[in-house]
Amino acid sequence: MGQPVVLMPKPMHATVAEGLSGHCELIRLWEESDPDAVLAARRDEIVAVATGGTPINDAFLDQVPAARIVASFGVGYDHIDAAAAAKRGVVVTNTPGVLDDEVADTALGLLLMTVRELPQAERYLRAGKWQQDGSYPLTKATMSGRRLGILGLGRIGQAIADRVAPFGISVAYHNRSEKDVDYEYYPTLVELARNVDTLVVVIPGGDSTRHLVNAEVLEALGPDGILINVARGSVVDEQALVDALRTGTIFAAGLDVFEHEPKVHPDLLTLPNAVLLPHVGSATVPTRIAMGNLVVENILNWFSSGTALTPVPESADL
Ligand code: NDP
Repeated sequence: MGQPVVLMPKPMHATVAEGLSGHCELIRLWEESDPDAVLAARRDEIVAVATGGTPINDAFLDQVPAARIVASFGVGYDHIDAAAAAKRGVVVTNTPGVLDDEVADTALGLLLMTVRELPQAERYLRAGKWQQDGSYPLTKATMSGRRLGILGLGRIGQAIADRVAPFGISVAYHNRSEKDVDYEYYPTLVELARNVDTLVVVIPGGDSTRHLVNAEVLEALGPDGILINVARGSVVDEQALVDALRTGTIFAAGLDVFEHEPKVHPDLLTLPNAVLLPHVGSATVPTRIAMGNLVVENILNWFSSGTALTPVPESADL
């Protein structure tokens, strides 16, 4: 019997191909001159798919009817219709846990940058204004005494809560269900926003969370409010955010993710009270290697034992 055939639709971190090497035949679809012909010819042989951000839906799965596992690189899997996959008996896996610290560090960095206007101050220095005009103006906001609301107290949300404790910052949260933790729980997002001055968004993207952070939530956050988004751009109504930043409805925002990446709303680029990062939440060499290794382990474990290590909740019963 030949080696199992794994489809990789688009380039992924090198650890994935390296880890699979010797265990399977890997089809690197983007390198094929006629990808459709390759898919048609190998459709009954492809048993696994290794993927980064490729959208995976019913139409895609129709092309690989023998596939039993889709192993995705990253913890967010809003680009995959995991419910449709489960109906076909296809397990979807993601890479939870191995990136929590990295993303929480990014969130904390973004928070400090936004509150203390550190990127703006650095630009001031580089522009020669320190010598020319004197000290950078005092920042209105401070970390001291902030009240942090976490939208999505999951793995990464908890790591963020752990990190702000030494700052003396209070933590509250909103999830769909209350957790057994000491932080104050708000059953609605608007109530949470009303009771904090800093809102960190760290929930999954996708249709069910689209524009949860809307004009009403931003209004509730208030004129001293700071929004940090390290989740997915789709969770925040970007136009409402631009309006809120421009009119002073909220004070500032720090964003790692955007609605139409890599395009960024042009007004965000000009607003002085927005700190913007190019989706670097988990983007370090060690963490990306750990994520790649977990993709490989899921596929190899599936081959050897028929179980995946980190299936997404939709695949739990498979
Ligand atoms: P978890 O599943 O551990 O946590 C998600 C939390 O969100 C859960 O506590 C869940 O609680 C809550 N939640 C889910 N849906 C809703 C909803 N509709 N309303 C309110 N709360 C909700 O995920 P992780 O912490 O591992 O990751 C969170 C997200 O962070 C990922 O899905 C990904 O999109 C993003 N991310 C971004 C990165 C970046 O580079 N910027 C890197 C890694 C992740 P409950 O079920 O009770 O509602």
